Amino acid sequence: MSMKILVVDDSATDRVLIERILSEYDVLTACDGVDAMKQIDANNEIGLIILDLNMPRMNGFEVLKVLKSEEKYEGIRTIILTNYDELDNEIKGLELGAVDYIRKPIHLASLKTRVGIHLELIKIQRRLEQKLVEQRSTFDTIFNQAPIGISISYSSDSSDAISDVDTQINSMFEQIAGRTKEEMIELGWANITHPEDLEKDLEYYRKLKSGEIESYAMEKRFVRPDGSIVWVEMTVASLKLMGESEIAHIALLKDITRRKAIEENLKYSYEHDSWTGLYNRNYMENLLESDSRRGFHEKRAVVSINLSAMQSLTTTYGFHYTQELNKKIADILGQYCNGGRVLFNIYENRFAFYIKGYEDKNELTEFSEEIAKTLEPLLITERISGGIGIVEIDEENGRDVDGLLKKLLITSERAIDIDNREIGICFYDAAIEEQMVREQEIKRALTEIAADESYSRLFLQYQPIIELKTDVIIGFEALSRLNIDKLGLIPPLEFIPIAEKTKLIVPIGRRIMLQAFRFLKRLNDLGYSSIGVSINVSAIQILRDDFTSSLFRMIEDARVHPEKICIEITESVVASNYEEMNRILGKLSDSGIHIAIDDFGTGYSSLARERDLNVNCLKIDKSFINRLMYLKSEEAITSDIISMAHKLGHCVVAEGVEYQKQREYLERWGCDKIQGYLISKPLNEEAAIEFLKTYNHW
Ligand code: C2E
Ligand code: MG
Ligand code: MG
Repeated sequence: MSMKILVVDDSATDRVLIERILSEYDVLTACDGVDAMKQIDANNEIGLIILDLNMPRMNGFEVLKVLKSEEKYEGIRTIILTNYDELDNEIKGLELGAVDYIRKPIHLASLKTRVGIHLELIKIQRRLEQKLVEQRSTFDTIFNQAPIGISISYSSDSSDAISDVDTQINSMFEQIAGRTKEEMIELGWANITHPEDLEKDLEYYRKLKSGEIESYAMEKRFVRPDGSIVWVEMTVASLKLMGESEIAHIALLKDITRRKAIEENLKYSYEHDSWTGLYNRNYMENLLESDSRRGFHEKRAVVSINLSAMQSLTTTYGFHYTQELNKKIADILGQYCNGGRVLFNIYENRFAFYIKGYEDKNELTEFSEEIAKTLEPLLITERISGGIGIVEIDEENGRDVDGLLKKLLITSERAIDIDNREIGICFYDAAIEEQMVREQEIKRALTEIAADESYSRLFLQYQPIIELKTDVIIGFEALSRLNIDKLGLIPPLEFIPIAEKTKLIVPIGRRIMLQAFRFLKRLNDLGYSSIGVSINVSAIQILRDDFTSSLFRMIEDARVHPEKICIEITESVVASNYEEMNRILGKLSDSGIHIAIDDFGTGYSSLARERDLNVNCLKIDKSFINRLMYLKSEEAITSDIISMAHKLGHCVVAEGVEYQKQREYLERWGCDKIQGYLISKPLNEEAAIEFLKTYNHW
């Protein structure tokens, strides 16, 4: 665009003179201010004005004032024409916006040079302006098309100013917040921030304003007009703008709602059991840990409901069935949750209440009783048992959450075994733990033995059984012993139940039978072919499908006579699985194996059933033999048991005979055989053979 120069002077001579000097430029002229303004308004190419001050109608000062007053004249430069003695006017003119002055009489060369300089300056200025416009447009493009929300605010000094009219907000910001720029400016960002995030945000913002920090970043939520929440990652920083004394702030926003949703999901599944929807062990551990860090201001305890026996239902009815049952139990227990009680599904088929602020132990007991009572009908229907273990949290165990959970598990396991009810209740104490550690040790030893036949830590002792009529040893009962380095000799009453619980009794029982058969074979080889061996067998062993077949194979392999083998099973086992058990016992009897009911009298016995039972022998429990020491003989029912057993066609063995008086009573009432310390304690193999030789005078 060509630039024009306007010469404004009431003197025609001066106008002509100047026009001539500037002939190389495009020059317009005006004779006074009014004329000048007309031309300026009509011609927007005028870039430089040479302005006389003293003119009729509208003088130069008035023109300068108008030019200064309106933005549209901003780009026009004015050089004033003054007389050499008008210093005041020069100053006034410069103050009104003129950029230079030229004194009259006009010096031609000076005028030309100055005009040249100013035209050059105007060109530079215009180029700069153009550049600025271009930069601004680039900035605007970036600002408005940026894929992140941006806001720049030039807030006032008030540290709480959270709404600012000068704020620039880009369209992504509007999109994220779901509001227009105007709406946000009117509301202020505090009002669109989620109340839970506001305090933290304001705290940061105050620090930023006070210069304590230069920037901050946080994840926060905005509330959209429809009430929905948008999660953003926000960075706010101070901006020191060039030439501005105020500090501006820039906020950059990224919508992270989706990421948050995924995170929430992950967090949920990290903290919940997917099936019951209850909090899981992770969550419980974290909660216990954080509570312990906070200190102990109230009583805290964990009550665990152990229904691990449900596992057995899975094998029978399938996974789906147990899952549904688990859910049902979760719903039942869920009703007991309140402010002080949180429910967790800590392991499969195991639940726990975390209880805070209870009064005393009694309250825990009552609560556990109530839970037990509620669950009992269900457990009866499902024919499973459970245990409720209670661990009170103190400063010491509270800090070791892992240990605490272990104690909980131990106690609830223990609770299953105590009390003769569907669901036992047990408080934790140190003795329980000691016992559990011991059990663990035994379990480990049994596992090793089950895997390796060469272990000599499991061995048998043999207790002689004599026939009363002849007073000769007619057999031995094999009694198993376990020797563990750390714990010494473990009685069978301790390790057999553990072996049963872990099902290790199957391989362990096999080892026992093999050893007993080897002993029997040895007796036979030594010429004691009439001597038999009794072996104690657990229900778990007998009820296995392959029990009889594998027993027969072992007997064959050991080359022993089935008639010399007696299998002892306890009374309670027979009672609970009568039909099935009797079928198996029948099979054993058919092969010639003898069957004895051990500990007779201690369990429930139906005499009618005894008649049909495929057994040969009843072993009267030691408790009945003990009584013979202090009861008058006519008061003791031992004699009734003997005669009843004989009527049913069974032979009778008395166990635990320690005194001659007992032996005499038994002899008098026709008991067939006795076994006990009076004859001999259980003996190692060699000693047993020696004892046999001596006793039977062979
Ligand atoms: P049980 O079959 O009734 O065995 C008799 C128990 O009484 C044995 O205890 C024996 O040592 C003890 N005893 C014998 N005579 C006397 C006596 O005069 N006085 C006293 N106080 N005790 C006497 P032990 O060896 O501790 O066995 C305990 C129980 O463990 C056995 O009772 C049996 O039920 C079970 N058991 C032992 N070995 C095995 C085994 O190999 N398999 C299975 N399943 N159970 C076994
Ligand atoms: Mg026995
Ligand atoms: Mg017994």
